[in-house]
Amino acid sequence: MKTILLALILTLASTPSLAAEPVAADSTLHSYLQARAVLGRAIDAAGGQANLRRLRNVSLAYAGHRNMINQSRRALPPWDREPATGAVVVDREGKRMYAENYTAYPGIGRFGGAWALKGDLGAHWEIDRNHHGSELISVYSERNADGPWAFAARWMPPLLLLDAWDSGTYLRSLGDATHKGKAMHALAWTQRDGATITLLFDAGSGAFSGFESIHDDGVYGDVTDRIEYSDWRAIGNVRFPTRRIDWFNDEIARDLALDYRVDTALADARFEVPPGYSQPASMAAGERLRKVGDGVYLDTEMGGVMIVEFEDFLTVVECPGDYAMADSTLAALRDAFPGKPVRYVVPSHTHGDHGGGARAYFHAGATLLTTPGHVEFYRRLAQVRRSIAPDPYVAAGQGPSIEAFRGERTISDGSQTLVLYDIGPNAHSEELTIAHLPRQGIVWQADVYFSPGTGGGVNPAMPIGIDFAKKLKSLGIDGFEALLEAHNSRIVTAAEFRRALALSGYREY
Ligand SMILES: [Zn+2]
Ligand SMILES: [Zn+2]
Repeated sequence: MKTILLALILTLASTPSLAAEPVAADSTLHSYLQARAVLGRAIDAAGGQANLRRLRNVSLAYAGHRNMINQSRRALPPWDREPATGAVVVDREGKRMYAENYTAYPGIGRFGGAWALKGDLGAHWEIDRNHHGSELISVYSERNADGPWAFAARWMPPLLLLDAWDSGTYLRSLGDATHKGKAMHALAWTQRDGATITLLFDAGSGAFSGFESIHDDGVYGDVTDRIEYSDWRAIGNVRFPTRRIDWFNDEIARDLALDYRVDTALADARFEVPPGYSQPASMAAGERLRKVGDGVYLDTEMGGVMIVEFEDFLTVVECPGDYAMADSTLAALRDAFPGKPVRYVVPSHTHGDHGGGARAYFHAGATLLTTPGHVEFYRRLAQVRRSIAPDPYVAAGQGPSIEAFRGERTISDGSQTLVLYDIGPNAHSEELTIAHLPRQGIVWQADVYFSPGTGGGVNPAMPIGIDFAKKLKSLGIDGFEALLEAHNSRIVTAAEFRRALALSGYREY
């Protein structure tokens, strides 16, 4: 068999008419060679192979603003504008990297993430300790270090070009493209972490101009993320951009001024996790649906999604993420409560990490309960186009079932009672729903108070947390047995909540 194949290949290869044919324009090898040619030209435009390879280290500091798309006080544009800053250091010589990224979120302050790696070992932690506190967020070793390394390259255009050049056969030409009337060459490149991005080059000068990727978003469906580098200047013999604009479909998500330095003296401490951070205490593995009170459960795989069981139906508080996440909660509920439908779903507000899964509940026939200013947001979510990650929901003629309440809404069947309160406007969202189960003494909240996900530690309450405590008092909720939070499955006691408030000087709750 092998011999026959070999003979056939030899015959084909020696057929003059075939050998003379140009390689088909769509062939893989041709596409790869075209990509190499485009990339080689861009490396020349950036300063040339030799100069790029001579870089021992590159440091970047950036500052600008973020338009808080789907993370603003309002459910729909115009968005809040918040400061964004960060730094990236790549030590080529020592095979080390450091990155930090700060974004302020409306009302809940700065969230600063940092990453440090030496080779394939490192960690990710939260600098400001607002959300995760002193627990490491992730620890990296071996292949999972590829993610932060790929991320760092995307911030360092000359190094990204070298990485792409050295990546073997992970490059393909996508041919010519036009963007805003400018002719471009587009290449697909699969980075070391397995993510494929589209590199874009100015067809005229041959210079690198940015990259694109696509993702599915629970709220917006198909999304193209586009990074544009511009305003280049030479540092020594290598060209670096001084501006970066991040696009989210047709909206500007972030606009940054970039300041690069090359071959500086690097402090070793920069590549270490600062003192005081610990591994998260391991969460006791348990049932997916954890009972936290009579007829009250948490979906522990979805952070703090709360399920309240009534005589004939269920109510789910919060639907984070996207269709698949919400569908997974629904499947767990069908198993645990056969024959009991979800009648209501109550997202606390409109941010995707709280309401992005609403379509799965629409598909399951549930009614979404929300405040008046959020109705239009959820109507639009019902219509979103999702071709990257299609879901089966199709909005019927009059749209999904949505009921609005103003101020307060009680769901009760006599034995089980759930009270919803709009505690907005506050510094995070113009409207924001919390839940209270008076009989069980359970309060559930989203984005007004954060505690570390595991262990018994507390973070100092932010001003919005103090406002929340005052709001509870004004609603007559002077205490509770358990405080649940949207972002993790931890149960905070009243004593812990009071300690967090006291750390910020508030002692009246
Ligand atoms: Zn939020
Ligand atoms: Zn949130």
